[in-house]
Amino acid sequence: MHDTIADAPAPDDISAFRQEVRDFIAQAADAEIREAGRKMTSFFPSFEPTMRWHRILHRRGWAAAPWPREYGGPGWSVEQQQIFEDECRRAGVPRLLPQGLAMVGPAIMKFGTPEQKQRFLPGIASGDDFWAQGYSEPNAGSDLASLSCRAVREGDHYVINGSKTWTTYAHHANRMFLLVRTSTEGKPQQGISFFLLDRLDLPGLTIRPIIGLDGFPEQCDVFFENVRVPLDSCLGEENKGWTVAKYLLEYERGGSSSFATHFRNELDAIRRLATSSGDGFGGRVVDDPVFQQRYARLLMETAALEATEVQFAALEKGSPESGPMSSMIKITSMETLQRITELAVDVAGTPSLTLQLQALTVGSGVEPIGPEEALTIMPKYLNNRAASIFGGSNEIQRNIIAKLLLSR
Ligand SMILES: Cc1cc2nc3c(=O)[nH]c(=O)nc-3n(C[C@H](O)[C@H](O)[C@H](O)COP(=O)(O)OP(=O)(O)OC[C@H]3O[C@@H](n4cnc5c(N)ncnc54)[C@H](O)[C@@H]3O)c2cc1C
Repeated sequence: MHDTIADAPAPDDISAFRQEVRDFIAQAADAEIREAGRKMTSFFPSFEPTMRWHRILHRRGWAAAPWPREYGGPGWSVEQQQIFEDECRRAGVPRLLPQGLAMVGPAIMKFGTPEQKQRFLPGIASGDDFWAQGYSEPNAGSDLASLSCRAVREGDHYVINGSKTWTTYAHHANRMFLLVRTSTEGKPQQGISFFLLDRLDLPGLTIRPIIGLDGFPEQCDVFFENVRVPLDSCLGEENKGWTVAKYLLEYERGGSSSFATHFRNELDAIRRLATSSGDGFGGRVVDDPVFQQRYARLLMETAALEATEVQFAALEKGSPESGPMSSMIKITSMETLQRITELAVDVAGTPSLTLQLQALTVGSGVEPIGPEEALTIMPKYLNNRAASIFGGSNEIQRNIIAKLLLSR
C-alpha cells in the first residue's frame, strides 16, 4: 500500500502533526476509553470501548491509518503513522483491533472485485463492522492446509459444514472471513477457498466463547451445520484461497499494529514500577544491575524491532522479501513481548499474584487491591504465553524462514 502514501513531511510539519494528534486524543478519548487502554491484559483490548474509539477516530478520518486515500485512509507517510501510534500509546488509548483494518481490509483491496471493495471496505474503516478470522480448526492449526470445513455448491448457494476454533472475538463479530475446502483434488492447498461472510446470524451457525487463562472469554469455537451462503462469497477465485490466506498472514505476522511503540510504553510502565518498588535490601529495584541489564536489553530489542517494522511497512506485500520478514517480525516481537511481561512480574512481585477480575473489568468501578499498576501484570503475563502461538507458532515461522530464505 506504500505507493499511495504521501511523501514524508518536513520536520516542522512533523512536530505540528504530532501536536495535532496529541490534542485530538486529549479531547476525544473519554474516561472509559482510557480505562480500556490502561486495563489491556491481552493483545486484543476490551471490545466495546475499543470499537467506540475506532468510530471516533474514523470521524476524524484517522482510523484506517495505513490505508490509501482512495479507500478512506488519511494518506499518511510511514513516519506519520509511527507518530500517530506513538501518541496513541502515550495517551494510553487501546490499540485498534487488527482483524478488519490490518488483515482482511488489505486482502480485499488486493483481491476484491470493485463490488466487494465498495461493499466491505467502508464498514471496516468506520468500525461499524467487526470481522472474525476463521482459519484454524481443531485438527488444522499449524498444518492449516489440511483444513476440512467444507463448502459444497448447491444451486445458487454454498452449504458449509464443519468447525473453526480459537476464533478471536467471534462472539462480538457481525462478519467473518473464512477458509473452506471446496475441492479435494490435487494438493491440499489447491482446494481451499477464501469466503467473506457478511452476516453471522445464519441458521446452523453457532458461536461458543472459550474462557482464557486470564479469566476472560476472548476466543471462540464456531460450528457450521448446513449453513447456506451465496455464491458470491468468494474473495478471489474458488479453490485459489490459499494465495489470499498467505497474503493476509503477512500483514498479521508483520505487525498488524506497531509492536515497538506498544513495547516502549510497557517498558516505561515497568521503569516507573521499578522506581517505586523496594528490592528487599533497602534499595530500589530500578538500581539493581540485573534489572538494569534486562531492561537495557529489552530497550535495544525494541529499537531494532522498530527499525524493522518501518522497513516492513514500506515493503510491497506478497514480494519475495515480505514473507520471511513478516515471520522474523512475528518471532522477535512476540519473544520480546513475552520477556517484557516476565520482567514486569519479577519487578511487581507478590502484588501481581492476585487475579482481580472485577477490578480489571472496564466500567466495573471496583477499586484494585494494591497498586493499580500491578493489576494487569499477571493477566498480561498469562495471556501473552499465547503470543508465540497465534498467527502461526514460532516453530512454524522458523520453518517458513528456512524454506523461503535458506533453501533459495
Ligand atoms: C490467543 C489466540 C488467538 C487466536 N486467534 C485466532 C483467530 O482469530 N483465528 C484463527 O483462525 N486462529 C486463531 N488462533 C489459532 C492459532 O492460529 C493456532 O493456535 C496456531 O496456528 C497453532 O495451531 P494449534 O493450536 O492447532 O497447534 P498445533 O498445530 O497442534 O501445534 C502444537 C505444537 O506443535 C508445534 N508444531 C506443529 N507442527 C510443527 C512443525 N511442522 N514443525 C515444528 N513444530 C510444529 C507447534 O509449534 C506447537 O508448539 C488463535 C490462537 C490463540 C492461542
